[in-house]
Amino acid sequence: MIHHQNCTHFLNSLSDYVDDELSAELCQELERHMSDCEDCQIVVDTLKKTVYLYHETAEEPIIPSDVRVRLYRRLNLDEFLGDMQKREIDSR
Ligand SMILES: [Zn+2]
Repeated sequence: MIHHQNCTHFLNSLSDYVDDELSAELCQELERHMSDCEDCQIVVDTLKKTVYLYHETAEEPIIPSDVRVRLYRRLNLDEFLGDMQKREIDSR
């Protein structure tokens, strides 16, 4: 039986886990939980991809803005996207 009430506890640690800032003990605990919990697996997977893409885009500042818009849209960063579009309109 999966104890899903643990998810909230682990969700607070997931971003640290992705950043490799979690203690080895918590890391093991989290990995054990994830082997039983698909929800947390998906969250970690998504976080890892997002972090990876952020690093990629930081190193490649010459991405055409429409590609960037599509990328942010795919990541559901609607707030960020709205902010960026606002700034583009303002600079015109
Ligand atoms: Zn979980």
